[in-house]
Amino acid sequence: MAGMSITRAALEQLDREDPLAPFRDRFSLPDGVIYLDGNSLGALPRATPARVAAAVSREWGEGLIRSWNDAGWMDLPARVGGKIGRLIGAPPDSVMVADSTSVNLFKALAAGLALRPQRRVILSERRNFPTDLYIAEGLATLLGQGHTLRLVEAEEIAGALDDSVAVVMLTHVNYHTGAMHDMTAVTAAAHRAGAVMLWDLAHSAGAVPVDLAAADADLAVGCGYKFLNGGPGAPAFLYAAPRLHAAVRFPLTGWLGHAAPFAFEPSYRPAAGIAGAAVGTPPVLSLTALEIGVDIALEAPMAAVREKSLRQTTIFAELVAQECAGHGLNLVTPTDPTRRGSQISLAHTEAWPIMRALIARGVIGDFRAPDILRFGITPLYVTHTELWDAVQTLREVLATKAYTAPEYQAKLKVT
Ligand SMILES: *Cc1c(COP(=O)(O)O)cnc(C)c1O
Repeated sequence: MAGMSITRAALEQLDREDPLAPFRDRFSLPDGVIYLDGNSLGALPRATPARVAAAVSREWGEGLIRSWNDAGWMDLPARVGGKIGRLIGAPPDSVMVADSTSVNLFKALAAGLALRPQRRVILSERRNFPTDLYIAEGLATLLGQGHTLRLVEAEEIAGALDDSVAVVMLTHVNYHTGAMHDMTAVTAAAHRAGAVMLWDLAHSAGAVPVDLAAADADLAVGCGYKFLNGGPGAPAFLYAAPRLHAAVRFPLTGWLGHAAPFAFEPSYRPAAGIAGAAVGTPPVLSLTALEIGVDIALEAPMAAVREKSLRQTTIFAELVAQECAGHGLNLVTPTDPTRRGSQISLAHTEAWPIMRALIARGVIGDFRAPDILRFGITPLYVTHTELWDAVQTLREVLATKAYTAPEYQAKLKVT
């Protein structure tokens, strides 16, 4: 479409030709809403309410404690972990579902630092997601061994590597800009410097092709409630490369990471492999919901998901340029499609009230401080025509300055 303007009719045609179009019906989306925030909280799969209801009434209500065995509750973390593993190029028995992403970062980072006991630097990106950096700070303080956090810009990572770096901890797709690291190249650079590579896949799993084994990553964590559609607060996951399983030790030594939890031994013995990453009793209802989302993601061929994601992010950015020029928006997501995930971020000085006005009109994205309008593109349920309609709404909000209305100014607790 280079040089030609995009029309709604052309986008309708793309929807008719879209091989992923049938997936939209697998999700329950409210009328009158264009949902461009699946990178923050994925939509509800239609199958989830009945499945969770059955887990509550049949497995819990009738099966009671017997369901730990009879309904396979105790197998859920490894089973769902194995399914997520297939989405991210992880070999069998190398992914565990547990805890939140933040807690898994703590566990993985501590394990990574312990693999490099002579080194004291955690290298990360200044604009990494804050929880990742906060966890690293807190862990360094707790260890009390002089670990420091070295923060650089994304493009300075390779140059900041030296023989003091114990762990390189990066988020594959940046939450703020949507920029994506070259996982293979960065991992190789970290390894050349002798460092352990820890990836956060919060904005990658289910959204972009990931092959942890091919990239030779050491450790990874990720999120269940974003592109995996596991529901609010869905448990997260943790990966350790099989070649590390003999050596890796996770710091939270709860009973479910014990080699024999029901032997009730007085002293901790770690379970072999990734099972040692478990800590306490798994959140069965949340895992049940997460499995539905992961199963849908496994049905969708990742090559088709990526192709549609890139087409849609490109169209969205081009439409914004075509329809909203002169209104102070700046594209901050890389224009090179190989360098971005599945979102478009636009900077604007009035980003907060603009997003409030968009949401009031049924176009749901989100705001990221200080000035980012963030639009997540989830190819399984976003249509091409919705992109047109969303950008028309954005144009209207900007052209009429509707965002200056007082009701859009107040800050909310969650943005
Ligand atoms: C969403 C996200 C998290 C979320 O962590 P929680 O523990 O689930 O709150 C962490 N890191 C990154 C990079 C994220 O995008």
